[in-house]
Amino acid sequence: MDKSVIRFSHCGRNIYCFSIPERCPQCGVGLGGRRLEEAPVSIPSPFSNGHKALCSFLIAPTEGHFVREFDGGSDLHTGITDTNGVVYNYTKTGVRRDEYGWERCISIPLVQPDMYNLINQWDRYLDKFSSAHMWDTQWQRFDEEKHNCYNFTLMFINCVLATEHKRALSKDEFTNAFVLPRIKRASKYSVLCREIAENHFYIVMDHKNRHGDHSEN
Ligand SMILES: [Zn+2]
Repeated sequence: MDKSVIRFSHCGRNIYCFSIPERCPQCGVGLGGRRLEEAPVSIPSPFSNGHKALCSFLIAPTEGHFVREFDGGSDLHTGITDTNGVVYNYTKTGVRRDEYGWERCISIPLVQPDMYNLINQWDRYLDKFSSAHMWDTQWQRFDEEKHNCYNFTLMFINCVLATEHKRALSKDEFTNAFVLPRIKRASKYSVLCREIAENHFYIVMDHKNRHGDHSEN
């Protein structure tokens, strides 16, 4: 499990840590009994257990970290969960159905809790889609650029959208709207955790601090 990151403000700085220290690491003033400028905020981890994210699109980091510049290529591994948390993902050996191994990833739910019809059909759709010729490695080979895990997940999402009479998403639309913002956030969070693990704190200027607040209202 990720330790949760806490942010508090003091002396014009935003200070990130795993637990509130006795003294401000920037100015050395004791924090006990003294009011902080605002209540500490806990920053939720962008990672979750993919096997507990049902009917979701999952992005797993490769080699424990997310690449900084993701272009929709094959640097990340992606999959789709069924209603039992089994992750369907396309690899060089064909479609795998993983019951473990996706415990720390980004998950994006693909259904609303009240979409009963879709949820009822979900496993059948996913199984049928995964059994298609297209993902049979004898018939069409895995290709790093064009026929990979990312295309597998996007095509499935587009099949689901079609059943809901919705327009298909292009690869760029999907990447820019759904994937990139989450990868950026996860990368930032990972950097934050690494900094705190090494130095106990990560300290940045607080530009929203009231002393330097330039907002109109
Ligand atoms: Zn301070």
